[in-house]
Amino acid sequence: KREGRDRFVAFSQEMDAALRARHLIEEELAATLARGGRDLVLHYQPQVSGRDGEICGVEALLRWRHPRLGFLLPGAFIGLAEDTRLVAKLDEWVLRHACRQARKWPELTVAVNISPCSFERHGLAGRLLRIMREERVNPNQIEIEITESVLLKEGKSAAEELLHLRSQGVRVALDDFGTGYSSLNRLRMLKVDKVKIDRSFVQPIGETADSTAIVDAIVELGHALGLLVTAEGVETERQREYLRFIGCDEIQGFLFSGPVPPEAISEMLIEERQRGAA
Ligand code: C2E
Ligand code: MG
Ligand code: MG
Ligand code: MG
Repeated sequence: KREGRDRFVAFSQEMDAALRARHLIEEELAATLARGGRDLVLHYQPQVSGRDGEICGVEALLRWRHPRLGFLLPGAFIGLAEDTRLVAKLDEWVLRHACRQARKWPELTVAVNISPCSFERHGLAGRLLRIMREERVNPNQIEIEITESVLLKEGKSAAEELLHLRSQGVRVALDDFGTGYSSLNRLRMLKVDKVKIDRSFVQPIGETADSTAIVDAIVELGHALGLLVTAEGVETERQREYLRFIGCDEIQGFLFSGPVPPEAISEMLIEERQRGAA
């Protein structure tokens, strides 16, 4: 019995420690945001044309240079920011900084991820459009990436926010497509411009007939609805070949490039221009 109790004490001490660590990270995130996001950085991943491999856009992906914990990927802190409602502030920070970068890349579409939680506070579209205006970026250079859960959670009001954004030229992409519930119906209700096929379907292309069939079907459905289709997580030449063959519009993945600092994108654009001129 005593041993069981010791174990319980050890267990709850561990829980305490984990909770304290979580609280600390929350506080640190709030603090870095309050200081203008000093330790936050955006990396950008190219999205290239399926046809000729030209860069058509980039996706902004958030990183945190944490003073104690090192370079953190979103998986380590976005969930936490969602639980504490810090995420709306975080998404606005990302949009503002992505806009500043977008001004330097007039030929590219810049995509930012917007958490479903950001839709919970009323007036999201107005807030985002105001940031674009303040940063002097044309809304038609900006794309927002949302997931299907947005409609699940917020229903009609989310649909209205999206309509408002689209009426001003902002493009809307449905991220991680195929992993949520009743995707097909939602695709009809959500007015979007683009679907991004989740990488769990892209990675097994050519290995399992099932996932290849799903990718085929998504591209066909997307095109039938007049949408652009992007494939995420493209890592091999074979995947790229197949996606090109079925007419997938854009691809994104380590095969072309992972997320990189903005200077690296600028260099890619210069190289591309030189190749074009040669
Ligand atoms: P996502 O929007 O689906 O972004 C794509 C993720 O896949 C990125 O991970 C990217 O680094 C990774 N990836 C890209 N190409 C490949 C590939 O070929 N193979 C593999 N295995 N992975 C690839 P990351 O940067 O860790 O971001 C994870 C998620 O965090 C994102 O998924 C997005 O949902 C979220 N996130 C990132 N930045 C933000 C942000 O600013 N705001 C919000 N709310 N969420 C963000
Ligand atoms: Mg995304
Ligand atoms: Mg995705
Ligand atoms: Mg994702």
